[in-house]
Amino acid sequence: MTTLSTINSILKSNTLNKEVIVQGWVKTFRSNRFINLNDGSCIEDLQCVLDYENTKKNILDKINTGASLKIQGKVQESKGRGQKYEIEVESLEVLGESDPDKFPIQPKKHSFEFLRENAHLRVRTKTISSVFRIRSEISYAIHKFFNEQGFFYVHTPIITGSDAEGAGEMFRVTTLKDNNIDHCEDFFGKETNLTVSGQLEAEALALGLGNVYTFGPTFRAENSNTSRHLAEFWMVEPEMAFYDLNDNMDLAESFIKKIITHVYSKCKSDIKFLNDRLEKEELTKPKDQRSELSLIERIEFVINNDFKRISYTEAFDILRNSKSNKKKKFKYPVSEWGIDFQSEHERFLVEKHFKCPVIVYDYPAKIKAFYMRLNDDKDTVRAMDILFPGIGEIVGGSQREERLEVLKDRIKKQGIDEKELWWYLDLRKYGTVKHSGFGLGLERLILFITGMNNIRDVIPFPRTPKNAEF
Ligand code: ATP
Ligand code: MN
Repeated sequence: MTTLSTINSILKSNTLNKEVIVQGWVKTFRSNRFINLNDGSCIEDLQCVLDYENTKKNILDKINTGASLKIQGKVQESKGRGQKYEIEVESLEVLGESDPDKFPIQPKKHSFEFLRENAHLRVRTKTISSVFRIRSEISYAIHKFFNEQGFFYVHTPIITGSDAEGAGEMFRVTTLKDNNIDHCEDFFGKETNLTVSGQLEAEALALGLGNVYTFGPTFRAENSNTSRHLAEFWMVEPEMAFYDLNDNMDLAESFIKKIITHVYSKCKSDIKFLNDRLEKEELTKPKDQRSELSLIERIEFVINNDFKRISYTEAFDILRNSKSNKKKKFKYPVSEWGIDFQSEHERFLVEKHFKCPVIVYDYPAKIKAFYMRLNDDKDTVRAMDILFPGIGEIVGGSQREERLEVLKDRIKKQGIDEKELWWYLDLRKYGTVKHSGFGLGLERLILFITGMNNIRDVIPFPRTPKNAEF
């Protein structure tokens, strides 16, 4: 048995008359002769030409979009346009029928909303299957990158007992039926939640293994119905002992570039397909709303250019003095040092001002988590966010506070009970060292590489407020 992607390489090596067996789903069936078959292994369909005069009617009737077939035949040079080679069908077996009047994925353009309602079948479309093939390659590239750099892959708990991570709203985990929950009676004898980040545990592991990373699902019950937020998403969190913030930024930048470079070279036809799809879509927009660069140009631009690095204070000044701010074009005015940047501000910096990915570092302590290292000015912490065109924040990271007393003070100021973090504080008591790390949202990176607009379309079965079908 051969997959289409292997067949495609066979075809490229010009093996005429070779006998092959292929299985896949019918995309289209034209003139009772031409079957476009795809098995999901690659973007290109395989044209299989049927000798319809010698095919029984009851078989012909079953060759419908969505049906699954097993075909044996010979590779031939194609007489038609659109493909160089085709399969001359010698025998055909219908594996699974598909009612052409009921199969939702018709050979026409569907809206992404419609496809989301049919998330169990949408992988049969070219766009979504491309996205998921790319998602797979990105995941592989992430493991490959860290493995080659000598990082250890660690698994941090999905059910967590620490509720002080400060990254957002959490999903409670309980086996109790009663609404008036007494945590002592509960499964773990304490309040537990789904993890919002594996960072604190990753820090513990880094301070013994050196360089580690986690790569797994993360849960946030944030009621933000945006095209950039999911309630369940996948996060990559490297944590590095002996790294300061500059080392951290260097690693994050080279990491992102390496992953994109890898995927760009491995998924050329999928990215080309998505690029062309987007170009067509752009043409339907008014001229002044079209994006200046194509998907491929954006990808190449990120790979080939340094990310701009600026401090929060510099970014704040640029924003405050910008025409957009003065003409009150921002929904949230930039007036006082210390505000958290909104996505409109992040996108202004990246898309309008610098026109390249931007790393903003040294944020006001007040708006950042307790574990970020306090600078000597006492007002800012060694945090960094990487901002991407069209997406906003793609990475959030920091150098961690390694000084016990400073950390305790920060915990207190943020109103967190020190006792809950006893084990985290232990890390600063026994052989503390400077260390750093960051979190990259896998789906945000996929959004960038695929040019997709909505984060719900880059994860197979999205979880968002009021939506957990499938
Ligand atoms: P944002 O400001 O976009 O909500 P955040 O500051 O909450 O992000 P972090 O806590 O720093 O994000 O998480 C690290 C990374 O995880 C982010 O840079 C982003 O790529 C990703 N991320 C965060 N929240 C979500 C979410 N709800 N869905 C998908 N990815 C997310
Ligand atoms: Mn958030």
